[in-house]
Amino acid sequence: MPETVPLDFLGDLRRTHTCGELRACHAGARALLMGWVHRRRDLGGVIFIHLRDRDGVTQVVFHAEADPELHRKAELLRSEYVVAVEGRVERRAAETVNPAIATGEVELVAERLWILNDAKTPPFPMEDNVDVSEEVRLKYRYVDLRRPRMQRNIILRSKISFAVRQQLYAMGFLEIETPFLTRSTPEGARDYLVPSRLQPGCFYALPQSPQLFKQLLMVGGYEKYFQIVRCFRDEDLRADRQPEFTQIDLEMSFPQPERIFEVVEPVVQAACRVAGFEVEAPFPRLSYEQAMRSYGSDKPDLRLPPFHTVEDLFAETALASDGLPLVAIRIPGAAGASRKEREELKTYGGERGLRVYDDVKRLERDFPGPVAAVRERAAATPDDLLLLAGWNGPPRGHRPAETVLQACGQLRLFAGQKFNDRHRLLDPRKLCWLWVVDFPMFEWNDEEQRWDAAHHPFTSVHEEDLDKLLSDPAACRAKSYDLVLNGVELGSGSIRIHRRDVQAKVFRALGFSDEEARRRFGFLLDALEYGAPPHGGIALGLDRLVMILAGENTIRDVIPFPKTASGTDLMCDAPAPVPERQLRELGIQLLERT
Ligand code: ASP
Repeated sequence: MPETVPLDFLGDLRRTHTCGELRACHAGARALLMGWVHRRRDLGGVIFIHLRDRDGVTQVVFHAEADPELHRKAELLRSEYVVAVEGRVERRAAETVNPAIATGEVELVAERLWILNDAKTPPFPMEDNVDVSEEVRLKYRYVDLRRPRMQRNIILRSKISFAVRQQLYAMGFLEIETPFLTRSTPEGARDYLVPSRLQPGCFYALPQSPQLFKQLLMVGGYEKYFQIVRCFRDEDLRADRQPEFTQIDLEMSFPQPERIFEVVEPVVQAACRVAGFEVEAPFPRLSYEQAMRSYGSDKPDLRLPPFHTVEDLFAETALASDGLPLVAIRIPGAAGASRKEREELKTYGGERGLRVYDDVKRLERDFPGPVAAVRERAAATPDDLLLLAGWNGPPRGHRPAETVLQACGQLRLFAGQKFNDRHRLLDPRKLCWLWVVDFPMFEWNDEEQRWDAAHHPFTSVHEEDLDKLLSDPAACRAKSYDLVLNGVELGSGSIRIHRRDVQAKVFRALGFSDEEARRRFGFLLDALEYGAPPHGGIALGLDRLVMILAGENTIRDVIPFPKTASGTDLMCDAPAPVPERQLRELGIQLLERT
């Protein structure tokens, strides 16, 4: 590379076309394109460059014979230089047509070239299939973002957001902003705190969600609210979480859960359509109870068949299960599983407390009648692998049957993934959406020996369970629902409590003293006394939705500037220490770290 490349000014240059636009019908036209040098081939007398912008790639040719000075300037070009080129569009000879690019029938014969900026050799090529560590990609994210796959993902994300907005506006929703500098809203994670300079010793919390504000917007009379909004949760490191993430957040006045579903389904359909998927609505609805009994999960992946509880078929046999579930799991097409694979399934189940019978054929000798009935119930064919799994030890947990079903659910998924390569059980092009409804209202928190809200403390209880709130919390069902796609929870919501007396009772059931409830949520309790309408809503995870629709495996690939699993931004090196002076202004003194 020459020491310095003489650079040109943009001046009042204007592009006439994008790099993805020119076709055979443009032959003979003049065009001025701008973009990055994607690839360069120097054949001596002729230089070809592939000029790239967001829209595509066009081949540009420089002939030494036609214009030696221009050709000399083109010799200076290197990968990722930023240029403007003006010239004449020409049809390519049949044998040189490039079907791999949309503009492949033509090329731009350059007549003028402006080098707008040079570039260091990029840390990795602008191709999709390059072997480059994520660390390097994230450090040079602005370069990584130019790669075709990232461009596709980020553009898809933008289009999905637009489709979601359009659909919600069409249904009468208003987009309303809520504050980022606020008080804590409990969604089960730690808050990010922001110190106040003007009120030393006081802190704002970044919102874990706009939950309380959207409820207050309903009290404020806006009836249909939405926002595509950033939420902040300071959680321990877990796979594929981001400290800040985006939700499609909405709230409505006067809804039953079904009204919310009627709004969300077309929104989801619109988002899927943008990504090329047609999805049928209404989505299936399953109660939490049914989801547990048939899939051992509150976010079942419907691409695999349900499992079946079969303890009734083995009553009074050696396999009788003390009232705990015995489960038949069918894996389509996997009858030919090797001994080693079967052992792996048994070990996986064993680690979760299950005893796994990997071969019902062997069981058949001792229990011919029950095994035949299991086959029938599970609709198993001779091609399928049929596992039987039961609990191996004393009952565990606050809802012991659920503990068993959950372990079986994990085994079902593990087996499905194991045989996926051979039998294509989990086709990523198949989108299985469903609603899971009627979750338990409370979850037992073993560590703290108390009940926690399974969704959040503003969730309404089923009317029939209202009088059990304090006497039998385990039996209370919530008016809450999850939206699930292919085993991933994509959204969660509920009908809220709109009466002050009920809200106070739920706070009490959760172990909040009246003073604590008042201190933390006084403004909500007050608002509920000023004509709060019945209301409810949901929040959908935009990052995960785009990830699945883009066919990616991590949300980092659909977020322009993500953080690593340890919450670091490798590009701008955040979080970072701040100067002493800044801390002093905030009245903050750091403790010595040991
Ligand atoms: N605020 C809830 C969440 O972020 C969603 C909702 O209830 O609407 O999970």
